[in-house]
Amino acid sequence: MNKKKCSKCGKKKELSAFYSRTGCSSKLHAQCKKCISDKGKIYRLNNDDKIRKYRNKDIENQKIRQFNYYRENKQSRKEYQKIRHKQLIDNLDDSYICNRLGININDCHPMLIEAKRAQLQLWRVVNEN
Ligand SMILES: [Zn+2]
Repeated sequence: MNKKKCSKCGKKKELSAFYSRTGCSSKLHAQCKKCISDKGKIYRLNNDDKIRKYRNKDIENQKIRQFNYYRENKQSRKEYQKIRHKQLIDNLDDSYICNRLGININDCHPMLIEAKRAQLQLWRVVNEN
């Protein structure tokens, strides 16, 4: 027997019509996917304001968390950016080269980047000795 009766609509359905669930004997939800989906739709229709308010509060909280995170990690972020910037320069990263050329990375031809990279590498070799 690979069918299960939904506790909501009472229809016998294939096991694939049920979401899996850990921590219960059958490993499946009591209600079928369609009933769970319908329940969600009805809830959303009836609680539009509540959901919007909750979502706005969530966005607000996220902004506060983000702000606090930036403030609390100001120093480490600065250090990280310094290290990252040095890495970009040391590796002659595309973004660094385009910056040197004064061209937006999206408008910069790959061959131009290569040429500038070669020039900078040569310049570094010359100035090392
Ligand atoms: Zn059902």
